[in-house]
Parts: sequence; C-alpha cells; structure tokens
Amino acid sequence: MLNFELYNPTNLIFGEGQIEKLSTLVPQGAKILLAYGGGSIFKNGIYEQVINNLKGFEIVEFSGIEANPRFETLMKAVAIVKEQNIDFILAVGGGSVIDGVKFISAASNFEGNPVDILKKRIMFTELSKVVPFGTVLTLPATGTEMNSGAVITIEATQEKLDFGGSAMFPKFSICDPTVIASLPTRQLQNGVVDAYVHVLEQYLTYPHDGYLQDRIAESILQTLIQVGPQVVENPQNYALASNFMWSCTMALNGLIQKGVPSDWATHMIGHELTALYGIDHARTLAVVGPNLYKVLFETKKGKLLQYGKRIFNLTGTDDEIANEAINKTVEFFHTMGMDTKLSDYTKDFEKTADFIVKRFEERNWKALGEKQNITLEKVKEIVEMSY
Ligand code: NAP
Ligand code: FE
Repeated sequence: MLNFELYNPTNLIFGEGQIEKLSTLVPQGAKILLAYGGGSIFKNGIYEQVINNLKGFEIVEFSGIEANPRFETLMKAVAIVKEQNIDFILAVGGGSVIDGVKFISAASNFEGNPVDILKKRIMFTELSKVVPFGTVLTLPATGTEMNSGAVITIEATQEKLDFGGSAMFPKFSICDPTVIASLPTRQLQNGVVDAYVHVLEQYLTYPHDGYLQDRIAESILQTLIQVGPQVVENPQNYALASNFMWSCTMALNGLIQKGVPSDWATHMIGHELTALYGIDHARTLAVVGPNLYKVLFETKKGKLLQYGKRIFNLTGTDDEIANEAINKTVEFFHTMGMDTKLSDYTKDFEKTADFIVKRFEERNWKALGEKQNITLEKVKEIVEMSY
C-alpha cells in the first residue's frame, strides 16, 4: 500500500429531517450568502425548509448558478461577497452549485486574477484565505459535498477546469435522501453513473496490495448496480434513496483513493466534451470510459479481470473476462439510460479528437493515467473510438 494522509474535516449530517439542524451549524451571527441554481429548490420545498431553519440570520441570496457552473456567473457572486462583507456561504443544490460556491469561496479573498485559480490550477490550503461554506445537497452524484475539489467552466474560452486544496472542504454538508424525490429521471441516471465512474477511476488501474480499498470500491459498485436502476423508478423509496446518496458521497470523499493509484483520464477527456458540446457530465463519462478501458486494455487487464470476476461473476479465460467486464459496464450504462456514443449527442463529433489533443498539448497534458502512459496518440484513439 502507498503511504497516505487522510484529512477530511467535513461534518456530514445524513438523514431525513436533518435540514432542521442548519441554524446550529452556521456560525452564530454570520452574514450568509445563500447560493442556489435555477430554482428547483422553490418547486420542491427545499428553499422553504432552509429559510425556516435560518431564522435570525442576515441572508443575501445569489441565484442562477447554472449546471456546469461558469466563472463569469460566479464572479458576480464574488462581487457581492466583497461588497456585503459576507462571512459564510451556504450552497443549496447539486454538484454545480456546490462547486460554484467553492470557487466563490476561493476567489473572494484571492489577491491575483481569479481566472488563474483555474488556468494555473491553484490549490488552497490556508483556511484564512477562503470564505467558509457549508452545503445542503439536493442531487447525489459528485461527492463534492465531502471533498475539496471543484470543476468550473470558463465560458469565454469554452474550458472546463478543476482546482481545489485542503481549505476547500465544506464545513458541513447536510445530506437528506428525501430531497431526491423531485429529481428528474435524467439527473437520477446521471448521479448513479457519475458515482460509478468515480469509483472506476480509482479502482480500474493495476493490481496492487490495497486490498481493503479494492473491497470498499467493489461494495460501492455493487450497491450502485443494486439500487441504481430501482431508484430511478422509485426515488421516494427511502432505502433506495439513502443508499444511493451515501454511495455517491463514499465514491469521492477521498477514502477509496488512499494508498492506491488512480486514473482520472476519463474525467479529463469527458470535461472537454461538456465544455465543447454541453453534454451532461455523467454522460461524457459513459462515452469515454469504456473506450479508454479498451485502449488501455493491457495496462488495466489485471484489474478488469478482478472487476469482471467480483462484480459480474464472469467466467472464461482472463482475456475473455476482462473484455466482457467492459461490455457489462456498457450494458449497465445503457440500463441507466446513457447513450454511449459521441454521435448520439452531437453532429459535430468528427473534429473532436484533434481539438482535444491540441488542447491537452497546450496544457502539457501529455502523460495521463495511473501509469502516465495515456499519451496524446492514445487520447486521440479513445476519442475517435467514441464517435
Ligand atoms: P447539477 O449540475 O448540480 O444539477 C443538474 C440539474 O438538476 C440542475 O438543473 C438542477 O436544477 C437540478 N436539480 C438539482 N437538485 C434537484 C432536485 N432535488 N430536484 C429537482 N431538480 C434538481 O448536477 P450534478 O450532477 O450534481 O453536478 C454536475 C457538476 O458537478 C458538473 O459541473 C461536474 O463537472 C461537477 N463534478 C464535480 C465533482 C467534484 O468532486 N467536485 C465531481 C464530479 C462532477 P436547479 O439549478 O434549478 O437547482
Ligand atoms: Fe464526475
């Protein structure tokens, strides 16, 4: 096992009715920026629950953080934080609102040009340099409620870039599984697949001696396979909703990544597809992931074999099992309502590979993946296979 440090200060408050604890979690006397998205929280009653549990606090609202949150939008909130002397930010929403709030938190006291936070991938480690924030999660998927990363789109240049650092963990996150009852099918499907691929990014690498991490990763995959298709049909079911929500958090709160290698190239390529064509994040992963496993077959064969045996109970030769494990993954994505070809989402797919390769070259991203052997040629092959 590789050496590791495990630091995760987020106070995770899980379960039905937990939004009632809000007033005890926000620092007393804080002036709050309440940040949210396009208004789903008004329709499902979450806004009301939040406001009712923040009586006595001074609140400034910032609405309109869009899916795939934009730098340009978030800078408007940064101006409000500065003008209004905000001392705490509360994100109420899914991954986009929470990631957006992480950026607002980091940019509000930043001394340089805030776009450099993304362009230069600045890591924030000093709590004194960021505005503290908490979250009320409304969409299980990303794990951002219990991790220190965020992904932000720069509209001007059509780039989707990440940043983070140990100062970017939420102070608290309230995860009430009943909030998912109002989620549209598409978002439920996205949530399951995003979390599933988060696990695969940290699991489908090469055989190692992180036995416990592998077993935890496999149990998250198995739980998502068990509850994923059902929760889409029946998001009111608390057993399904709570297991779905907790699986998503566990998939990317840092735990399964400790002491083991990880890949993340599926996300890096997928982000480009969202930046270029606005495809939902999870759907880009369903397009890229299986082709990446095919192109990196020799590197990943050992883990594909373990995955095929333990998750899908496959039998046959090693090569047959490893190959079939990829097919089973695609099948699961289809069950979850994903289209897995780029041409299903855009007519402009033909130039995509060259465009992405050029971008990666400019950023000097020439050696991705757990073995740093995903070269630009391989990126091109992966993207072209997804047409
Ligand atoms: P999202 O973009 O936050 O939300 C998608 C849509 O769902 C929005 O239109 C939102 O509407 C709606 N919605 C949210 N909660 C709802 C509810 N309870 N009922 C009804 N509608 C609801 O989706 P997401 O998948 O959570 O986040 C995706 C973003 O996270 C991407 O930018 C992705 O790159 C990023 N991401 C981050 C991490 C990380 O670790 N930081 C990891 C993976 C992905 P409203 O706007 O009206 O609320
Ligand atoms: Fe993701």
